[in-house]
Amino acid sequence: MYDALTGRFTFPCPARGEACVTLSAFRQLERLPGAAHPALFHVLFSCACGEEHDGLVTDDDLDWAPLGLGGGVFYNLMTARLDPLADELSERAAQRIREGEWPWSFFCYPEDRPRPVFPSSFFLLAPGEGALALAIRCPACRRASVNLVSHEHVDVPFHNDAEVGVVEHVFADDLLATVAAFSEELYSSTFDARRLDL
Ligand SMILES: [Zn+2]
Ligand SMILES: [Zn+2]
Repeated sequence: MYDALTGRFTFPCPARGEACVTLSAFRQLERLPGAAHPALFHVLFSCACGEEHDGLVTDDDLDWAPLGLGGGVFYNLMTARLDPLADELSERAAQRIREGEWPWSFFCYPEDRPRPVFPSSFFLLAPGEGALALAIRCPACRRASVNLVSHEHVDVPFHNDAEVGVVEHVFADDLLATVAAFSEELYSSTFDARRLDL
């Protein structure tokens, strides 16, 4: 499902058979009721064929696989061997987290502070000019914030934009129910820059 070498998720595509997309190609994520371990998410993603398709992804794949904790192997140039990916990446990821770095972060507008987050808390993504509007459900206060971030901020673990755009608005849950409503809301919003130092 997630390939840590390419940083891409694989889903079926009705036109091409298979689609390999980065997290920033996701448009909508919705946790399905029921299964808790692992939790299952229904996603809508933008495919290279030009359409948007549905897919299913577990929270393990969303949150842990990009950190190398989802299994797989990688080619180790030092030893010219295929090594278990989990050992290499997870050790590095664990080290960085211990040093106070966080793989993903966002600015919580209702709390007026940056917070660490996992991709399973993202729920709407809308691409703009060179940037990505990202709606996040805060894991701490449960309220929604919208940040304007780079694609790398979403796709590359530990790449945190130094500054993100923040929509100065506390969103009602139903306002952000659909991608269309979200995009509409964005056009009428102003973004304010906030630093993401955690
Ligand atoms: Zn497709
Ligand atoms: Zn919050």
